[in-house]
Order: sequence, then structure tokens, then C-alpha cells
Amino acid sequence: MPVPKTYRSESLVLKNLPFGEADLLVTLYSRESGKLKAVAKGARRSNSKMVGHFEPLTVAKLSLAKGRNLDIVKQVEITKNFSSLKSDLTTLARGLYVAELVDGFGSEGSSNQLLYNLAVETLEAIQQHTSRELILRRFELHLMRVSGFMPELFHCVDCRKPLEPEHHRFSPDAGGTLCLNCIPPGIQIRSLSLRALKVLRMLLRSRIADLPQLRAHESLEQEVKSLLGSTLSYWMDKEIRTNSFLNHLEHLPKTEVFS
Ligand SMILES: [Zn+2]
Repeated sequence: MPVPKTYRSESLVLKNLPFGEADLLVTLYSRESGKLKAVAKGARRSNSKMVGHFEPLTVAKLSLAKGRNLDIVKQVEITKNFSSLKSDLTTLARGLYVAELVDGFGSEGSSNQLLYNLAVETLEAIQQHTSRELILRRFELHLMRVSGFMPELFHCVDCRKPLEPEHHRFSPDAGGTLCLNCIPPGIQIRSLSLRALKVLRMLLRSRIADLPQLRAHESLEQEVKSLLGSTLSYWMDKEIRTNSFLNHLEHLPKTEVFS
């Protein structure tokens, strides 16, 4: 079948950059084909119909034309602009953190509707439940699940035995939990409390609508946050920029993972 010259897409805007004299280079995560970059011609001109349509964290229906290198946006219609999320600095920073991780884990030209749906439903939950940081922890874990990087939480990754209900260890490099008998050489290992393991398993099976009812002690939330953060950094192979901004906003002590 010949490749169509124009196509339609529903996309989440991840970021934009000035391009040429008056254009924008937009990074999108599309429902149909994963991450893509496109040029919005003239979008920086004040009289352009596209002004304001490519702010990060905007969901839009687009019509695009195939280009030799970059596709060109022909039409755009906003379907969700998350205006109340964007009006508060903390929820905006959380939303940009979600966008940065989708950018890091999403592949260009490779459809992943589970990842698209996860990102949009997480932004909706951040907007609706402004004080619930567990929403981000659930997003981090499910992001790894839908991207094929899910850490093992039920068996020891070395001896493969089911985990007993006790304190364990965890290694991002080895792919998840380790029993106390197994210490594979040459990998980073950190402790994992039984309570934190239970929170991770709960986040894995919970629906996002259940989260506002769930509570965890702050020290326990910090342990889970640090563990998931180090695992994401390991897979992304770089520091997650918006995370340090988030920590600054929320007056949380920085762990060595994020510093
Ligand atoms: Zn083991």
C-alpha cells in the first residue's frame, strides 16, 4: 500500500523548540504511532491560527503532511489543554515530569497506545488530585511495565525462588528484587523493606481512580520514590531534569539518586 501523503493523529505535546524564523519544532507522543517530531510553520507569529496550540501537556487532533525529513502540521484542534494543571507550579512541574519520562521511554515511529493512555490519564489525575504524589509513583511503575522494563517484584531475579514476606534487596541493573541469599557480583544493590515492596505491588495492581483513597507514611513514600527514581535513571541512562525541580518545589530532601 502506498504511504499516504497526509495523515491524522491524536497527540500529546511533550515539548517545543523555536525553529527557523517563526516556526516551532514540536515533539509529540501520538496515539497512533508513538513519538514523532513535526514542524508547525509560522506558529510563533502572533496572528497564526496555531498560536498557543503546542504548549507542552496539550492534547490535540492534528492533520500532518509527510515531509522528506520532518512532517508538517497542517491543522490542529485542541481537545484537552489541562489549563488548571498548568496554572499551578507544582502540578505543572509534575506534568512536565510525566512528559519528560514519556519522551525518554517512548520510541519514534513505534505505536504504544498503553503508554499514550497512561500519560493522558495520569495528567488528568494530577489535575484532579493535586496533593497526591502517589499518582507519580504509579505512573513511574506502569511506565516501565508498558515499555517492557518492568522490574521483577515477586521472585528473586537470581535464583528465581518466590520471595518470602521479609526484608529484601533490589537492583535496577539485575532487573528487580533479590532474596537475601543472592548477591550477584558487580551490580548496584540497595535495601528494600517489606512495606515498600507491598506498596510497589499495590501500585502495580491499582487503578488510578483508587489512588486518592490510599495513604502511605511519608518515609515509606520516600523509600518507594527513591527506588523507582534510581530504576528510571538507570534505564534512561541520564538524570531526569524535572525531578530536581519537583523536589525543590516540594521542599523534599534530595536523595543521592537525584542529586
Ligand atoms: Zn535469590
